[in-house]
Amino acid sequence: MNTSMDVAVVGAGPAGLATAHLLTGAGCTVRVLESADAVGGRTRTLRTDGHLIDTGAEMIPSADAYPATWRLIRAMGLDDDPEAIPLVRDALSVWWKGRSHRHVGRPLGLLTGMGLSPRARWDLARLQLSLGRADLDPEHPERAGPAEATIADLLGPHHPQLRERLLGPLAAGFFGWPMERAAAAPFAAHLVASGSTATWRTYRDGMDTLPRALAARLDVRTDHPVTAVAPGPDGVRLDSPRGELTARAVVLAVPAPVAARLYPDAPAVEHEYLAACGYAPMLRLSLMLDAPLSPRGARRGFAHLVPDDPLIGVVTIDHAKHPGRAPRGRGLISMIATPTAARDLFDAPDDEVTRRFVERVERHLPGAGARVRGAVAHRFRHGLPLPEPRTMSARPAFVDRPPAAVDYAGDWISSRPCSEGAVASAYMAAERVFAFLTATREPTPIEAT
Ligand SMILES: Cc1cc2nc3c(=O)[nH]c(=O)nc-3n(C[C@H](O)[C@H](O)[C@H](O)COP(=O)(O)OP(=O)(O)OC[C@H]3O[C@@H](n4cnc5c(N)ncnc54)[C@H](O)[C@@H]3O)c2cc1C
Repeated sequence: MNTSMDVAVVGAGPAGLATAHLLTGAGCTVRVLESADAVGGRTRTLRTDGHLIDTGAEMIPSADAYPATWRLIRAMGLDDDPEAIPLVRDALSVWWKGRSHRHVGRPLGLLTGMGLSPRARWDLARLQLSLGRADLDPEHPERAGPAEATIADLLGPHHPQLRERLLGPLAAGFFGWPMERAAAAPFAAHLVASGSTATWRTYRDGMDTLPRALAARLDVRTDHPVTAVAPGPDGVRLDSPRGELTARAVVLAVPAPVAARLYPDAPAVEHEYLAACGYAPMLRLSLMLDAPLSPRGARRGFAHLVPDDPLIGVVTIDHAKHPGRAPRGRGLISMIATPTAARDLFDAPDDEVTRRFVERVERHLPGAGARVRGAVAHRFRHGLPLPEPRTMSARPAFVDRPPAAVDYAGDWISSRPCSEGAVASAYMAAERVFAFLTATREPTPIEAT
């Protein structure tokens, strides 16, 4: 099968599908090629035994924090139903001294305590104020401070409880970012842009709702792994065990290390940035329970940061996020491994991962072990972009590159550890690819399928 089209997008995660949607809307012929058997990438939801199990992403905040995402939500009409993307109550708590402390990441927490001393809270308010005034742009993290500063450097002058009990565990638990390695600038820009946890929402029908809605309107081929791309005089060739294709332009909407492997002959400036964009592996275990258990201190709370555990960075009570995540009377919880545990247990058998997590989670949810009906481990070798100082240094030249036949989209483009980074990158990729196509010749229709 030999097909010619305007654009082939590799990867049907949020970045690839958003890019395809925008280019299709601009009149281009576009096909999306996805290696997995379903769309969504790291925002996929599994449907098992009456449970909706979000394998990666779990929430989105308000439109102020995720403007690109909400633009697509509106374009797909997903917000026409007021119940479709409900608020998550008591979104974030912190586990400290045997119980969960609510209202983390929202102004109310400064009053209720969040398990922090009054001096630490005062210092947190000062830090938030100074970051808020710094005019940080999450799409341009390299402008947010010196490239060489790490999160540990950012938090160094502040109260130790911020490092040990709140912001350090937040970076490690949610993003897999060790403080001493991860660059400060994207962390600060993302924190400020994400706003209050009081605005967190989830999709009632699973975190893959937006990707599924986009894909339903596009030409998407699943089970179609791409193994290499090579630009030539007649377009870009895409190799796959499913057959060779050609397209006038290609967008690699896959994690940076995958893009580097698919396109080894990328120009030097692209190659350098791809090589500087590492990823943190993420390991998550979901447990289906025969009762809707909840931790002490935050009965309806959703996510619980765990600052002092070698294994568990975050416990999420998925049935508290939305009751539809588990059948009535049952429960669904998940645990995200700390960066060290994710590395050590990544290749361990599921049974061992389950045994280790269940043992530890008893601390937060006594009796949980006896209530487990099933467990699902989710492993993401490329879990979240892990920006380091060298990533920040390589970024300006990458951003300034001219449009070309092979372009990129994904959360790593801006080093933002969330789906908004992926969707925002699609707007940039679509604009660049469209500029390339119009500079070369008029878009052509698909010739054969
Ligand atoms: C544990 C975890 C929790 C998270 N929590 C949140 C959250 O609460 N909120 C939030 O906004 N974000 C969250 N994220 C981040 C969010 O999921 C990602 O930022 C987002 O999915 C990135 O989208 P993407 O399209 O760039 O990449 P992906 O979602 O990874 O999509 C890339 C796609 O490319 C496909 N692919 C890879 N190689 C090939 C190939 N060779 N050929 C064809 N296809 C290929 C993959 O199968 C995949 O479908 C979380 C991520 C993880 C791992």
